[in-house]
Amino acid sequence: MKKLAINGGTPCRNTTKQPWPKWPVWGKEEEIALIEVLNSGIWSYNGPKETEFNKLFAEFIGVNHAICTVNGTITLQISLEALGIGLGDEVIIPGLTWQATAATVIDVNATPILVDVNEENWCINPKKIEEAITPRTKAIIPVHLYGAFADMDAIMAIAKKYQLYVIEDCAHKHGGEWNGKKAGSIGDIGSFSYQLSKHLTSGEGGSVTTNNAVLAKKLDALRNCGRRPVTGTLDAVDKGAGDYGDDDGNFIQSGNLRITEFQAAILIEGLKRLPIQNANRDANGKYLNALLEEIPGVAPITRDKRETKKAYFNFAFKYSKDDFNGLPVKTFRKALEAELGIAVDASYEPLNNCSLYVPHTKPARYNLNESYWRAIDPKRFSLPICERIFKDQSVCIHHKVLMGTKEDMDTIAKAIKKIYYSSKELNSENKAEKIHLYNHFLGNL
Ligand SMILES: *Cc1c(COP(=O)(O)O)cnc(C)c1O
Repeated sequence: MKKLAINGGTPCRNTTKQPWPKWPVWGKEEEIALIEVLNSGIWSYNGPKETEFNKLFAEFIGVNHAICTVNGTITLQISLEALGIGLGDEVIIPGLTWQATAATVIDVNATPILVDVNEENWCINPKKIEEAITPRTKAIIPVHLYGAFADMDAIMAIAKKYQLYVIEDCAHKHGGEWNGKKAGSIGDIGSFSYQLSKHLTSGEGGSVTTNNAVLAKKLDALRNCGRRPVTGTLDAVDKGAGDYGDDDGNFIQSGNLRITEFQAAILIEGLKRLPIQNANRDANGKYLNALLEEIPGVAPITRDKRETKKAYFNFAFKYSKDDFNGLPVKTFRKALEAELGIAVDASYEPLNNCSLYVPHTKPARYNLNESYWRAIDPKRFSLPICERIFKDQSVCIHHKVLMGTKEDMDTIAKAIKKIYYSSKELNSENKAEKIHLYNHFLGNL
């Protein structure tokens, strides 16, 4: 049996000789576009690149309006604000997601209601949504997590039945399709992030998408200090052509949440690359998932048949220690990391016990009254499936591993098999190490 890399053996991949594909991806096109912006002197404020990108992104998603803003957190916040959601309202979100999905709900003074996910695909469980609905419920924010898609048929049916808004958190789903419709075009508003790790990126940034013209106007104003939508360039604004206030001459309270022209320039080029990159990641993902099916103790995330186009953010799969001689998933991830020379992570922490979702550390902001303070306590929610996924099952690798070749996928499968065959030995060492630490601890008493 070959010695595991974690124990000093030769890794399955020598990343010095064979580095993984790089992320982000850029070329001469980005360089030219950035210099063009630089020399134009129009660096922000509804410039030509931003206007063009909004148009291209709306076309790509298949909606009437796309508006870009500073990041994929603010996109959620202004979506909630545009829908008039605030104090006294409840918003249903999955317990397994990045903290922003919940944090933005409390940032508009509404109450996040955390519900559990499906074990098959780690996305929000529609049955649990329905159980969580109260007269105060105003909206659902499904998250299309990692490679998966929330069940939008079930969610839209629930939304219709109870008259709720749906904001799709598409931070992981640029270009993914459900029954031929793009993520971000199914709910009332779609929310996208262009943060560096995301599969369309400008370092930071985000977009909201909608078919509703009234919402689009509000969203546009909210990211622009409350001004009414402005068309034209900086020059036009300088000349006073920017019209302020809504049709009645009213303003909306907000702040500066605008993107720069440099970011928009990069996004225009990135969007051209995205469909090919998504297709490449999908082909490799399919191939790798088929290999995982053959290995005991690991399993792909279930792909819904209604998902007509795949968009991966990270490659995630499920692990079961029962087939690995009881080897904890934490040790498995470390061993895989050593074999592959790339970070192997757990899923997000469930939001009822998440180090970065701690509203009670900010009483000056969130202690609006006693009942609100209690309502936003994350610990009051029970999320057994989220916890099991995080603690026992989840294995997540950066989506750049899917941007290479089939041979790269073979290497990943080979590394998992290598750990599988050495799991007994690795787990006994693991236990011995624990006993050693325990004795050490007793010795110190
Ligand atoms: C990244 C992410 C966000 C927030 O986007 P930022 O651009 O980082 O603010 C929101 N929701 C999910 C699910 C994310 O992964």
